[in-house]
Amino acid sequence: MSVSGRCPQWCTTNHLGIDEPVEHDGPQWPDVLDATGAGRAEIGICTNGAHGVVVALYAESTLTPKQAREVAHGLLEAAAWAEDHAND
Ligand SMILES: [Zn+2]
Repeated sequence: MSVSGRCPQWCTTNHLGIDEPVEHDGPQWPDVLDATGAGRAEIGICTNGAHGVVVALYAESTLTPKQAREVAHGLLEAAAWAEDHAND
C-alpha cells in the first residue's frame, strides 16, 4: 500500500477533494498579540517537502518581554510536537 499522498492523522487542511495532497497543516498555537496590539505572532505545524513536519512561524511583531516568553514557549512546544509526530 502506498503511503504517499495520504494525510497524517493530525492534518487539518481541507484539501478540497485533491486525491494526493502534498503538504499538510497541523495544530496552531494561540496567536500572541504584540505590544502595539496591531501585530501578532502565529505558530503552527505544517509539512514542507523534504523537511517533513516543521514548525511554521509568522511574526511581524514588537513583543513585550512577557509576550516574547509566550512566543518562546509556543515555539518550544511546537518543536516538541513536530518531533513527536515526525513519522505519523
Ligand atoms: Zn492533509
